[in-house]
Amino acid sequence: MSENKKFVQEITDMEQDFAQWYTDVVKKADLVDYSSVRGSMIIRPYGYAIWENIQRVLDEEIKETGHENVYMPLFIPESLLQKEKDHIEGFAPEVAWVTHGGSEELHERLCVRPTSEVLFCEHYAQIIRSHRDLPKLYNQWSNVVRWEKTTRPFLRSLEFLWQEGHTCHATDEEAHDETRKMLDVYAALCEDILAIPVIKGRKTEKEKFAGAKFTYTIESLMHDGKALQTGTSHHLGTGFAEAFNIQYADKNGELQYVHQTSWGITTRLIGALIMVHGDNRGLVLPPKIAPTQVIIVPIAQHKEGVLEKAEELKDLLKPFARIKVDASDKMPGWKFNEHEMKGVPLRLEVGPKDIEKGQVVLARRDTGEKIVMPMDQLKDIIPALLSEIQQNLFMQAKKHRLAKTNVASSLDEMKEQLNTNPGLIKAMWCGELACEDKIKEDTGATSRCIPFDQESVASTCVCCGKESNQLVYWARAY
Ligand SMILES: [Zn+2]
Repeated sequence: MSENKKFVQEITDMEQDFAQWYTDVVKKADLVDYSSVRGSMIIRPYGYAIWENIQRVLDEEIKETGHENVYMPLFIPESLLQKEKDHIEGFAPEVAWVTHGGSEELHERLCVRPTSEVLFCEHYAQIIRSHRDLPKLYNQWSNVVRWEKTTRPFLRSLEFLWQEGHTCHATDEEAHDETRKMLDVYAALCEDILAIPVIKGRKTEKEKFAGAKFTYTIESLMHDGKALQTGTSHHLGTGFAEAFNIQYADKNGELQYVHQTSWGITTRLIGALIMVHGDNRGLVLPPKIAPTQVIIVPIAQHKEGVLEKAEELKDLLKPFARIKVDASDKMPGWKFNEHEMKGVPLRLEVGPKDIEKGQVVLARRDTGEKIVMPMDQLKDIIPALLSEIQQNLFMQAKKHRLAKTNVASSLDEMKEQLNTNPGLIKAMWCGELACEDKIKEDTGATSRCIPFDQESVASTCVCCGKESNQLVYWARAY
């Protein structure tokens, strides 16, 4: 009973304190635990299972689009990191250094990879000789380290998991196509699997990746009206190739620099899942990514035949859904709470009376709706319901984003909107860094992207009033 009581303690109301709500959910849904190193997280089995599902879907798509997985070393010699000037400038403030091996001081410091561009470049310079060696389409799944000052589980941590694609191409156009193709792969992952709507676009010069020619991004809106960058794809141009001397002999035997890309998504996506779909009862997971899609909770399980029936239903439905029976000795109400907290999309209740009538009770996590269904129809009903929940979550997130998207034609208007209905703001921008800086200073909003789908919401820059025909999405962001 004391355990029951402990669980009934509510999580913080998300409308009262969203940050605390988030922290409560990641802890109570058993996603992470804190480690003794500040800003490092322990990803617990339930959190890791979500990451594995993301990995499985994306890895298949990465291979389907012609890429191969490789593994690069964890350490980068300082001299190697410094070869590309913009790149080191961008990353230097958050790099962790290894200075000793055992008790001996190293001749050269080693950096713990914050990203692996320079490692791939060093390798590519060795293995690329001719146009026949191109394209090179590599990807790695790994961890990286960035010494962040303020940290939050999944959103910003000293160490996180990700994949990073690194490719080399013969022409600028091919590299451009690759950059766009992988952005589309990420967008499909977010929308079709995670049920998170995204806006595709290009980052401004200020916000692009250090050392890139340009950066494409997908941006999403969280429940509290803050934006989150959910994936990026960079066209690196020939900057790294020139710094690392990655050249190939073209068909005429002339040496050319390769054109490169890099692209990545991280465990941040789990943070996005929590903040887009979660509610005051905890996590809400889209069926396609949920480690458990259906949880069977036996009612009065001590009574004869109940547990057996629950197991029988599990075996029957196994081919159609990731399904489990919770046969622990906790009270049904406790189990309901726990699986709601963990965001399991469907709950199936079965007790002695249900068995008598040949029915079960299904409860949807997304709407809270309870439905009584005949047992013999479950093979059809469960997959249909899961796909309905998947769609509903995506539609809800889209509706929410629409309700929190405003159009501003002046800085005052922008400030007003960010205070009364925080979310995305569509506003025209002249392209000057000074205006971008001033907008951030005055409103706290940063440029999220210059969307591919352009529209004209005004004819002048929201900041300086100069003529402008470029639409930008702005928001306060994670
Ligand atoms: Zn301006």
